[in-house]
Amino acid sequence: MDRQKIKEAGLKLTPQRLAILDYLRDNLEHPSAEDIYKAILERFPTMSFATVYNTLETLREKGAIQELTIDPQKKRFDPNPRPHHHLICNRCKKILDIHIDYQLHVPEEKKNGFEIVGNHIEFYGICPGCRLKMSGMQS
Ligand SMILES: [Zn+2]
Ligand SMILES: [Zn+2]
Repeated sequence: MDRQKIKEAGLKLTPQRLAILDYLRDNLEHPSAEDIYKAILERFPTMSFATVYNTLETLREKGAIQELTIDPQKKRFDPNPRPHHHLICNRCKKILDIHIDYQLHVPEEKKNGFEIVGNHIEFYGICPGCRLKMSGMQS
């Protein structure tokens, strides 16, 4: 998420919005709008959820952040707008980045006339924390 994109988004940098941007900068946790709201609330107790949500929507429309729909329970936001892939824990829904350029080939007859411009791969599994908890339960 760079400052240029934020400028282009025409966002007035109010203290509340700056707090949202600060929270998202270098955040690798792919937080939901609720997570962001809760974190910001400590500093801005009067901030409304709508302000947080609308700011996220504007940033997303301008391409400054990505919206991830891989968690069916809630939308998650990714402050890194560049294409990358994700590792998802099936139990706690932790999402981690994978920065590998996979060269995937779609045969012409499977493209249905599409010009392919990108891909997003989701790898599912169990994170180390959940694996530890699970092994604790068994003993
Ligand atoms: Zn987990
Ligand atoms: Zn990501």
